Formats: sequence, structure tokens, C-alpha cells
Amino acid sequence: ANADSGAPTIFDKIIAKEIPSTIVYEDEKVLAFRDVNPQAPVHVLVIPKLRDGLTQLGKAEVRHEQILGQLLYAARLVAEKEGILDGFRVVINSGPDACQSVYHLHLHVLGGRQMKWPPG
Ligand code: 5GP
Repeated sequence: ANADSGAPTIFDKIIAKEIPSTIVYEDEKVLAFRDVNPQAPVHVLVIPKLRDGLTQLGKAEVRHEQILGQLLYAARLVAEKEGILDGFRVVINSGPDACQSVYHLHLHVLGGRQMKWPPG
């Protein structure tokens, strides 16, 4: 599994629009774009534009409380925009044991099909 090196990630290039992505929602603090390898008909990643040490949820500090709330609210806006308010899932993989692969905090917003639980 990938480790959290603190190095810049591909998401910096997506934020800078140096590599293309399909943006679903954007505001001053938050960017949401379609996952390149979707696991459901709707699969959107919601990220802070400023990583500010938030490589993974497991590294969150008190100063991140506001952006964490903004990310969760943006996930709800994405779900509404995508027409999946009847049922959607928000996932955060934190750390190697959770299969996190990109060390820039991101919420997965998944829906558009029947989701299974437990996820395994
Ligand atoms: P993780 O495994 O870290 O929770 O999720 C990382 C996600 O980022 C994966 O679902 C992967 O498909 C997605 N991803 C990785 N590289 C890119 C990229 O360059 N563009 C987009 N749109 N998604 C990416």
C-alpha cells in the first residue's frame, strides 16, 4: 500500500487544472470532480483546495474542523446535483490499511446504484 510521504499529489495538478477532470462542484475552498475509475454510476471526489497538512483524516487537527464541515456539506450538494439524495454513500479512506492511495484528504461520494453493506 501507498504511504503518507507528505509529497504533493496528483490532486494538486487537478486543482491547478494542469490535468483535466470533470468538475461537478467548486467553491472558494472545495473542489469536487468525477473519479477517473468510478465504482458506481455516480462517483465524485470532494477535496479541500488547500491541503494544509490534511493528507489523511487520521492527521486532522482542531484547525481543520471548519474545512471538514465544509467538505461534508459539499458532499451533500454534490449528491443533490447528481440526483442521488434518495441514497448515497460518503467514504473516507484514511491510511494504508484503508487502501488510501492519494494522500490529499478526499471524500468519495457514491451512488446511483444499490450500495451494499458491509463494504468489506
Ligand atoms: P483513495 O484510494 O485514496 O481513497 O482514492 C483515490 C481515488 O482517486 C481513487 O478512487 C482513484 O480512482 C482516484 N484518482 C486517482 N488519480 C486520479 C486522477 O488523476 N483523476 C481523477 N479524476 N481521479 C483520480
